[in-house]
Amino acid sequence: MNRIQEEILKRGKVLPGNVLKVNSFLNHQLEPSLLNDMALQWYEMFKNEGITKIVTIEASGIALATLVGLAFNVPVVFGKKTFVSNMSNSYITKVYSYTKDQEFNVCIEKEFLKKGENILIIDDFLANGNAILGLIDLVNQAKAYVVGIGVAIEKGFQQGGKLLRGLGYNLQSLAIIDSMDLIENKIKFK
Ligand code: 5GP
Repeated sequence: MNRIQEEILKRGKVLPGNVLKVNSFLNHQLEPSLLNDMALQWYEMFKNEGITKIVTIEASGIALATLVGLAFNVPVVFGKKTFVSNMSNSYITKVYSYTKDQEFNVCIEKEFLKKGENILIIDDFLANGNAILGLIDLVNQAKAYVVGIGVAIEKGFQQGGKLLRGLGYNLQSLAIIDSMDLIENKIKFK
């Protein structure tokens, strides 16, 4: 069992709607040494892929992605969930939010995503895959390449992992949850 899995068992809280709350180490309070451990695991997995940039989505992916950027010594860009005033300067996609139950625009300015770059996408959670599919769409618009995807916590009982692996992406999740029990707060890994 790796460190993120241990922390999930010790400190994760199962909420209604198949949501796992990890606010004490990943989504609100942050444990830098844990985040750094995860970053180094992805570094070992992807170090020979010629990664030139890390791409994530605001807000909760940013801290994790920053440590990954440090490990690879490359810049980190996050998709912004903002109103876009100048559409011609930005790549834009629509993402449905699992936790907020609403659709929003995500954009990255064109100057930060260049043709031919090798991108590693990083996010905290993978549920149905909408956030990561949105980021893939932005990378594709820039004619850059998604060389890998690193997810801290994949909820294996939802469809995102199957979908992304089925599309041929090299998806590396550090914890894959098989089942979560709301009543007993029990979490099982694959
Ligand atoms: P997806 O787009 O794959 O359906 O959902 C992934 C996004 O929704 C992540 O970026 C994450 O912010 C949020 N998310 C999905 N499931 C959970 C969960 O169980 N716990 C938390 N904290 N966030 C989640």
